[in-house]
Amino acid sequence: AKKNQSGRNIFDSIVEKQIKVDVLYEDDHCMAFKDVNPQAPTHFLVIPKTRIQMLEQATDEHESILGKLLLTAKRLANERLPNGYRVVINNGPEGCQSVYYLHVHVIGGRQLTWPPG
Ligand code: 5GP
Repeated sequence: AKKNQSGRNIFDSIVEKQIKVDVLYEDDHCMAFKDVNPQAPTHFLVIPKTRIQMLEQATDEHESILGKLLLTAKRLANERLPNGYRVVINNGPEGCQSVYYLHVHVIGGRQLTWPPG
C-alpha cells in the first residue's frame, strides 16, 4: 500500500512537458489539465509546478501555492461549471490517492452525489 509515494512520477513528467496533456491553464506556479480518465463530463486536475508529494506533506512554506491551487480550481470551474462542481484532494491509501504528486481534482457537469464512496 506504500508503493511509489516518493520518487518521480507521471505528474513530474507532465510538468516537465515530457508527457502531453490537454492543458487548460498554466502559469509560473501551477498547471491545470484534463484528467485522462474522467469521472464526470468535466474532470480536470490542478497541480503545483514544484512537487509536493501529498497534502499531508504540505507545510507553512506551501501556504501560497495551496491558495493558488484552490483559486485556480475555482476560476477554471467558474468558467465551465455554472451549476456547481466538486473540488477534491485524495490523500494517502485510504483516501484513494494513486499519484503521489499533490493534485486538486475539479469534477462536474452532472449531478454529483454525497457522501462519496
Ligand atoms: P488520485 O487518485 O491520485 O487522486 O488521482 C490521480 C488522477 O490522475 C486520476 O484521476 C487519473 O485518471 C489521473 N491520471 C493519471 N495518470 C494521468 C496521465 O498520464 N494524464 C492525465 N491527464 N491524467 C492522469
